[in-house]
Amino acid sequence: MTTVCNLGFPRIGLRRELKKAVEAYWRGDSTAGQLHDQARALRLRHWQLQHAAGADVVPCNDFSLYDHVLDTAVLFDAIPARYRPLFDADPLRGYFSMARGWQDDGLDLPALEMTKWFDTNYHYLVPELERGQSFRLRGDKPLAEFIEARDAGARARPVLLGPVSFLLLSKCVDGSQALDLLPALLTAYAQLLAQLRDAGAQWVQLDEPCLVLDLGDAERRAYEEAYHTLADAAGPKLLLATYFGTLEHNLPWAASLPAQGLHVDLVRAPGQLDAVLGALREDCVLSLGLVDGRNIWRADLDRAVLLARSAADRLGKERLQVAPSCSMLHVPIDASLETGLATELRGWLAFAKEKLSELRVVADALNGLASANATLELARERLQQRRRSRRVHRAEVAARVEALTPDDARRKSPYAQRSALQQRRYGLPAFPTTTIGSFPQTPEVRKARAAFRAGRLDESQYVQFLEQQTAHCVQVQEQIGIDVLVHGEFERNDMVEYFGEQLEGFAFTRNGWVQSYGSRCVKPPIIYGDVSRPAPMTVRWSTYAQSLTQRPMKGMLTGPVTLLQWSFVRDDQPRADTCRQIAIALRDEVADLEAAGIGIIQVDEPALREGLPLLRKDWDAYLEWAVECFRITTSPVDDETQIHTHMCYSEFNDIIEAVAAMDADVISIETSRSRMELLDAFAQFRYPNAIGPGIYDIHSPRIPDRDEMGDLLRKATSVLAVDQIWVNPDCGLKTRGWAETTAALEAMVAAAKELRLDQ
Ligand code: GLN
Ligand code: ZN
Repeated sequence: MTTVCNLGFPRIGLRRELKKAVEAYWRGDSTAGQLHDQARALRLRHWQLQHAAGADVVPCNDFSLYDHVLDTAVLFDAIPARYRPLFDADPLRGYFSMARGWQDDGLDLPALEMTKWFDTNYHYLVPELERGQSFRLRGDKPLAEFIEARDAGARARPVLLGPVSFLLLSKCVDGSQALDLLPALLTAYAQLLAQLRDAGAQWVQLDEPCLVLDLGDAERRAYEEAYHTLADAAGPKLLLATYFGTLEHNLPWAASLPAQGLHVDLVRAPGQLDAVLGALREDCVLSLGLVDGRNIWRADLDRAVLLARSAADRLGKERLQVAPSCSMLHVPIDASLETGLATELRGWLAFAKEKLSELRVVADALNGLASANATLELARERLQQRRRSRRVHRAEVAARVEALTPDDARRKSPYAQRSALQQRRYGLPAFPTTTIGSFPQTPEVRKARAAFRAGRLDESQYVQFLEQQTAHCVQVQEQIGIDVLVHGEFERNDMVEYFGEQLEGFAFTRNGWVQSYGSRCVKPPIIYGDVSRPAPMTVRWSTYAQSLTQRPMKGMLTGPVTLLQWSFVRDDQPRADTCRQIAIALRDEVADLEAAGIGIIQVDEPALREGLPLLRKDWDAYLEWAVECFRITTSPVDDETQIHTHMCYSEFNDIIEAVAAMDADVISIETSRSRMELLDAFAQFRYPNAIGPGIYDIHSPRIPDRDEMGDLLRKATSVLAVDQIWVNPDCGLKTRGWAETTAALEAMVAAAKELRLDQ
């Protein structure tokens, strides 16, 4: 019999129970004991739910109070010295201080660095290792959670981050090689495996997503060493789990690693199945990742059954498991509760619970259960409906995409000509000053928005409130003496949601939360259909703000790639096609802003870099359409209209060519924390257009003074031409308070003025 085995379940809870429990503990409103109780209750509920939805085997130790990579570091005692005193006093405090930093009792510890988990929007904490590091088992989290599941009657398979991926995802603070630490680490893994087997675990799932990356000889040798050692460890059977891509280029050696099971992602890489079947070791169990652990659509079950049958024909049903493509950490829990969505649309969705039911049907069909047929038929109907729906496919949108010409993605003249015309129009001083868009979203602003949404404030009252906020913001900027103003974005809750709500083809869930990092969750919009813009989205606020001042007012949009990247996207057409539709909708907005007299327009693309594929060989194709979409959005304007873009959390070295190809007249970037080092990429490339290196780190309440910012600007002048440089903060100011914002911007303007004197 083929079984349904899950690889990982969302831990945050249907109503974000974990977030609330953890934050209550941080605030001191609950005790460690209460937090552990709440966490246990969630785990039990999730095991029950998964079995009820159709899973034969459920994961355990996929749960985490903050992050599973951090858990792994702590489990093997990879704790940097600075946190040790906190751990010794209180392990839970030590754990959270690694995640969030610690400031108290005369200590000021920064948190571990955080970075994106492969190409997802989940962020993990990067373990810090050093030469000669030792490892030992610390605590018993995987064992305790296995016993907890076992005693609750769940059929659980412990999940561990595999040793090689763990090392490859860590960083060595002293420049040594993480893989050199492998032998020491394996001893601790082997000990843990033996404990799990003694407790009755028959299988353990070792997640090795790094197996889908470009790997060299050193990594390959590490994998061989690791799995030969662990195979001898007298532990449970090993399921080697790969996901997020194809194993194919590493397949010849990866498939011969001595594990008793292999999981492959057949959603991202269905084409690898044949090769995997050919390479699989005798008796090795194959886990087929058949439904998408990264997206919210119902699967094509006929196709899944077909794939599973072709595997069963070669291996027999006994050697097969069916599973999601990867852990379902990346999807919400229950689509059936989304009653706010159109019924038809809701019927196309599958969150974690529904995905397990889908896998149940696939396994049942494979096992010859006639009861599967009715469900398969229903799934077929839904899919047909979605394929034909007028909600999804709209001829007028297709026609717009069809009509695009190369000229639509090109400004009228080259940058040099444009910048001369723009300079004549605006006559800005050297080192022109501006900000990134948002101003403080005070509790007052959030309260008013909530009241409006709840119907306690009517539209005219709300608009009046927003006008007051905007007018105040304009006035403050004028007083400070900023050259290019912004309206402050008080009307926006979120830079994606605000646009998604005004575009056709986007839908919003009530409870579709997914974990971004720690207790932070996001509710990504769902792009379900062809995207279009029924009416202008920002013109009203930009023109209102412009009417209050003689200075130029910058229009403010979120770019097409970022809207795409931070949403659940369609799986029935390439991402590039969806992005082009969004680009056209935004292009119309840009044209309308220009027609309404807004002569400077910023299109933010903070997520452009995040969209890079995992394999280098795929980068160019992505960057080509991503840049094209930005250019479609920004190219309808005349030469004297100035296009800005803003990109934060980016490194630029390896994508500088693409950034230059975006051809924004001005780009603002985050640089203050890296002391302008990011500028080197621009300087080496001889990047021709204007750049605003952020000189005020808005991520901290600290107020930098004039001299500090002046120094950063002088640093910038040593690598860039003076007439290239703009002066601005790192990012939007929405998380800051007014007092610090005003003080910092005053100092920023003073720094710019001082540098002008040297010209
Ligand atoms: N314009 C947005 C803001 O100022 C940009 C946010 C971002 O870069 N993440 O908030
Ligand atoms: Zn930013």
